[in-house]
Amino acid sequence: MDAKGPFRAEESRSRLSAFLEVLRAMMAETELDRLLGLLAREAPEVLEAEESRLFLVEREKGELYSQPPWGPEVRFPIGQGIAGQVAASGQILNLAEGDLRPPLEVEGLESLPKTLLSVPLKDRRGEVLGVLQVLEKREGPFSREDERLLSILASQAAIVMENFQLDRSLRASLERVSKLLAVSRAINAEMDLDSLLAIIAESASALLRADRSTIFLIDRTRGELWSRIALGLDSQEIRLKMDQGIAGEVVSSGRTINIQDAYRDPRFNREVDQRTGYRTQTILCMPMRNKRGEIIGAFQVLNKKGGTFTKEDEGLLDAFSSQAGIALENAQLFEEVKKAYAELKELDQMKSNFLAAISHELRTPLTPIMGYVETMLSGGMGPLSLGQQRGLEVVTKCVERLKVLIEDLLTFVHMERGAIDLQRQGVDPSRLIRKWAEVFSVRAREKGLDLKLEIHPDLPEVWADEKELGKALSLLLDNALKFTPTGGQVRLAAHLVHGSQLTVDGKEGLREPSTVNRELHRDFVEILVQDTGIGIPATELPRIFDRFYQVDSSPTRKFGGTGLGLALVKQIIEAHGSQVFVESEEGKGTTFRFYLPV
Ligand code: ADP
Repeated sequence: MDAKGPFRAEESRSRLSAFLEVLRAMMAETELDRLLGLLAREAPEVLEAEESRLFLVEREKGELYSQPPWGPEVRFPIGQGIAGQVAASGQILNLAEGDLRPPLEVEGLESLPKTLLSVPLKDRRGEVLGVLQVLEKREGPFSREDERLLSILASQAAIVMENFQLDRSLRASLERVSKLLAVSRAINAEMDLDSLLAIIAESASALLRADRSTIFLIDRTRGELWSRIALGLDSQEIRLKMDQGIAGEVVSSGRTINIQDAYRDPRFNREVDQRTGYRTQTILCMPMRNKRGEIIGAFQVLNKKGGTFTKEDEGLLDAFSSQAGIALENAQLFEEVKKAYAELKELDQMKSNFLAAISHELRTPLTPIMGYVETMLSGGMGPLSLGQQRGLEVVTKCVERLKVLIEDLLTFVHMERGAIDLQRQGVDPSRLIRKWAEVFSVRAREKGLDLKLEIHPDLPEVWADEKELGKALSLLLDNALKFTPTGGQVRLAAHLVHGSQLTVDGKEGLREPSTVNRELHRDFVEILVQDTGIGIPATELPRIFDRFYQVDSSPTRKFGGTGLGLALVKQIIEAHGSQVFVESEEGKGTTFRFYLPV
């Protein structure tokens, strides 16, 4: 117990409660300025002194500063003056009259105080955020207890300050992330290269609060960097050698360049400014990379509003740059695909024109050939020997075959130019099938194939174009005969089926679900062309209806043909609002099937 007895105890109780009250108030504070004001006001009360001073550390500048309400700002380097020493060492300094020596003006003291206690404001990691000083103890020097109390106040204040800072930087990062997200979304939605470049440049300027941005892309074929810059409503293309200028240096070194004053930097080329009338001051230039991390260009951001580009700006641009790089590369790829597609379309058109021309040209000489052959066969050019007659019959067959091929080509060309005009009418399917079976029966017999007909009696008429349907049927029969070896069988069948049966196993049915639903209660005629031939490998099935596609398209292939037949069949049947189905097993045979509404 102290020599002054009860009086002293009473006093220290009231000091303690004042101290606790200050602590509580500090913890409740939500604004930095008010927290500092509170500390400066209450610390002398708690320590029974006259006055206090508070300095804050500014790390980047290595300085301490204060903004006293009564006068101008005081600033001095860490290490100088009493507060400077405390900031540098992180230790308490408790000075009494004898220890205080001028000059004290470094820290803005006008007269020498008798006593001065200085403590550092240390955060959780022990970093000094500021220095708190209390001057002129009313009685005697500052005690050990004063030192302890002031240290506690100072460290509590530092912790609250640190929380504020954390909160502020958290908010700032959150804001940055949400800005980044917004611009990423915007750039990912754009596929057009020019618009994308414009959006990226605008977003970069907005993100970094810069005046304008330019994106340079590498053109490897020409060893150049190119960019488009807006000039009023027009845009102008700039091209640089790959190692020229700041952008050139950035793409070749892969390093960021951050310039505070362009006109004082020897790397800066004033030419563009002179041409465009723009005045560049600050520049942040950074490489832009694709998914694989390869440099595809550079970002150049100019004239930061109200200052220079910071490390934080660099980080932000870096994060944005990788997003932008990916979007740009995708857009470039898309552009190439579009170009290739346009070229392909043009080639396709050329091929169609060629096919149309060549098939007409081929057809014309056939008529006189046939005319002469017929005249000769009928004896109009004198009597023929048996050998001559046989020869002319072979010529006739070949010309017929040529005619069919040319007709196929013509129909195909015609169809390619647009949907076919069907001349629909009631068609008797059994008559049609019998007719085509008759046509192919000679060939089947010659090849040693069993051509079997299986037609449901009293089949109703179907709503179809007889000529086109006959063509589809003949193409399917032609294939069946062609791809079935001697001794095999080709079956031609027609049945009546009810619409509800078509979708039972899910894989069948008409193409459009709406048609299926609408037509569920209708009858259909199912037509089948089935063979016991070589079959089609399962992997080839999805492509056999493509134009010109042949399972065996090698020059040494066994079977003739153009690869157009099934494409035509598909077009004809689809023009009828239906669909062709195929099932096949290699070495066992193939079945083609389609349905026609009654
Ligand atoms: P192609 O003129 O070659 O017959 P298609 O378009 O008619 O052309 O048929 C495409 C390919 O599908 C054929 O080359 C063949 O490989 C295969 N194909 C078609 N029908 C049959 C079938 N009945 N049996 C086996 N393979 C077939």
